[in-house]
Amino acid sequence: MLTAPKTLESVCPSCGNDSLQKQIDALRDLIEVAKTVVSTLDLDTLLQAILVSAMHYSETPAGSIALYDAKQKELSLHAHRGLSAEFINVERWNVTRGGLTEQILNSGEIFIVEDTEATSFFQNPIAINEGIRALICVPLVFQDDIVGILYLDDFNPRVFDRAKLELLSILASFAALAIHNARLHNKTKLMAITDYLTGLYNHRYFQQILTQELGRARRYQKMLSLVILDIDNFKSFNDRLGHAVGDKILIAIGEIINRSLRKVDYAFRYGGEEFVLLLPETSLENAVLTADRLRERIAEEAVKSVPESSGSIITVSAGVACYPENGTSREDLFSLMDSYLYKAKSMGKNRVCHSISQVS
Ligand code: GH3
Ligand code: MG
Ligand code: MG
Repeated sequence: MLTAPKTLESVCPSCGNDSLQKQIDALRDLIEVAKTVVSTLDLDTLLQAILVSAMHYSETPAGSIALYDAKQKELSLHAHRGLSAEFINVERWNVTRGGLTEQILNSGEIFIVEDTEATSFFQNPIAINEGIRALICVPLVFQDDIVGILYLDDFNPRVFDRAKLELLSILASFAALAIHNARLHNKTKLMAITDYLTGLYNHRYFQQILTQELGRARRYQKMLSLVILDIDNFKSFNDRLGHAVGDKILIAIGEIINRSLRKVDYAFRYGGEEFVLLLPETSLENAVLTADRLRERIAEEAVKSVPESSGSIITVSAGVACYPENGTSREDLFSLMDSYLYKAKSMGKNRVCHSISQVS
């Protein structure tokens, strides 16, 4: 790893050259940013470090970094400094036709506005309202794609030092690389906890979340419900229609589960054709209602999403258990939930079983 010498004086002692000293200082800043880039994968920490260095180097009192979503043609604010609460409140904005952002995105080059009032295409009402009078816009490019824009703002019109732009573009390439790495890291983390077929969380993540949520329920004396759903006669679907159609059925059921739950609930593909729901702060009664609603919805909708299975009936059986009503340890809760699933199967399938006395 590179390190900057620590004993430099303000003027280079060997040649007395002030501009050389400035270059050395700038390189030292750059090394600090490079160190941050390689030391953390937390996107916001990285962007903040890059912004601070860029502002320091360009001697601007404010700045921000926005990430660009090419699909949505939208920018979202990720790091900021020296800007008002009103400005920061605008978390996302679209690229307007003919505006400054569109020009930056099209050219991929650094853009300088030395006086916003004398620049006809600068019409961003939020920036104008903020009193921004001069700015440098640095596109953050990784492998030919613009991943974001670094804005360095001044509240007075000014002439920027062109010689500094080169170093800013090096900073920008660090920022773009950092964004790419952090995004890749987040994607990998998500893949490690996601089931490849249904997109629901996987078995491994279930163990982690159950520990976490059970701990929370104990600490705050809240209820927590678990539901296991198992597809009825799934083997016969595979045998009759083929494994690929079986996979489509799993995907369809995953989608129905996903859109039926609250934001705070978790859904896991627990095993081959078994799904588990973890419902925080949910009573046994409400968990039973949720499971039954889901059971009905699957019976009605799953076949419609898989045309190859038309004429068949796709149903699930379910078992429910609730903390603390049915047990306090994960083992007790799980084995009870499993025994109710077994009961649902033995009673004829397509039903939900639980500890509340049942008629059917
Ligand atoms: P029951 O009503 O008692 O649950 O009967 P079942 O046929 O659903 O249960 P069983 O456990 O006998 O069979 C489960 C089947 O699920 C067997 C296996 O081939 C199938 N399966 C497991 N994982 C997958 C998968 O990823 N894709 C497909 N297509 N089938 C799978
Ligand atoms: Mg099973
Ligand atoms: Mg089954």
